[in-house]
Amino acid sequence: MASNPASSNAPLLAATQQQAERHYLQAFGQPAQWCVAAPGRVNLIGEHTDYNDGFVLPMAIERYVVIAAGPGKVGHPPAATIRSVDLQESFTVPLNQPPQPGNVAWSSYLAGVIAGFLDRGEALPAFNAVVHSSVPLGGGLSSSAALEVATATLLESILATSLDPSAKALLCQQAEHRFANVPCGIMDQFSSVFGQADVLMLLDCRSRHLQPIPFTSPAVTVLIVNSNVRHELTGGEYAARRRQCEAAAQALGSASLRDTTATMLAASSRQMDEVAYRRARHVLTENERTLQAAEAIRMQDWPTAGKLMYASHASLRDDFEVSCDELDCLVAIAEQIGIAGGVFGARMTGGGFGGCVVSLVNTDAVAAITETIYTHYTAQTGIEPTTFATRPARGSHVLR
Ligand code: ADP
Ligand code: MG
Repeated sequence: MASNPASSNAPLLAATQQQAERHYLQAFGQPAQWCVAAPGRVNLIGEHTDYNDGFVLPMAIERYVVIAAGPGKVGHPPAATIRSVDLQESFTVPLNQPPQPGNVAWSSYLAGVIAGFLDRGEALPAFNAVVHSSVPLGGGLSSSAALEVATATLLESILATSLDPSAKALLCQQAEHRFANVPCGIMDQFSSVFGQADVLMLLDCRSRHLQPIPFTSPAVTVLIVNSNVRHELTGGEYAARRRQCEAAAQALGSASLRDTTATMLAASSRQMDEVAYRRARHVLTENERTLQAAEAIRMQDWPTAGKLMYASHASLRDDFEVSCDELDCLVAIAEQIGIAGGVFGARMTGGGFGGCVVSLVNTDAVAAITETIYTHYTAQTGIEPTTFATRPARGSHVLR
């Protein structure tokens, strides 16, 4: 189990960089010329609202995908050879024409971003790269977006140019859509590009307007607990929820649930399919909660923010039906610890059916809370959770 007090995460990026550069030297026999980083993210509140044109409140986390790189052999056609230290695999991709989507593999995320740059008419020279990451793979903290955004940041470095940050995030989102077949919203890539230390991002997924919400109090920390379960049904269920939300919006006479109100929903409750009604109720109330939580955090009103997180979890569990026993168990443990023990609130985060729980906690109590969660969750489920504390972190940037 990894559990780091909030203050000890800063050296993690430096260590990841050092390891990536060491692996680069080993693999390619030259010191790295470029090194870039892009963070994973966690969403504090606003779940399953992104594809309904709603609000989300994510932050970048102190866990990064780092890429160390240098010029490759001049050849025809120019090519990129990229190695993942984490997967111990390499691949080579020609750079004379945009790669095409194929079977989804880890290379797809990089190939998708390379394709995005070549499609813009950029000419990429041969390069070698090593990927090394402290974002858990497939843990719901968006290692995929971090990998895409790190790749885009590397290509900016190689080309000595910088894209408009929104265009960069959208290019990475396209890579995920086209090359990983994941029809994600904009939250993950925007968080990885726009993250700032001590800032949460209130993102309007319709207008793409991003409002910074200061999260400066050192007394409060975000604690992420990975349930270490991932139930298989996720893909199909995600698509089903999207369809149900569209159907609910249609039943309410709107193009999107963003345009509907609680009054409209109440007025239509009799005519509506019961499941569609509950799906809509989650999205409507979640948008409200997200705006309220942003305000509460701005006011440093942690108990109110925490209550909204518990309410979000209940809504995701009962109305949207995307939780699972393990996530419910973690939230129940957090609730039992309570404010007296330093927990303000907790909820599942990400698509659901496993993955992580995010909680707002007293920084001083992180170690004790982590211990209690570990003991109780292991006793109740037989599964060991993985835990780490983080503050809102800086978005993608150049290290070398
Ligand atoms: P999440 O984004 O929640 O972590 P995804 O399934 O969307 O989960 O993305 C995980 C995938 O991203 C991995 O299976 C792998 O293909 C790719 N990936 C992420 N980080 C790395 C890495 N460090 N090295 C190689 N591939 C990675
Ligand atoms: Mg992902």
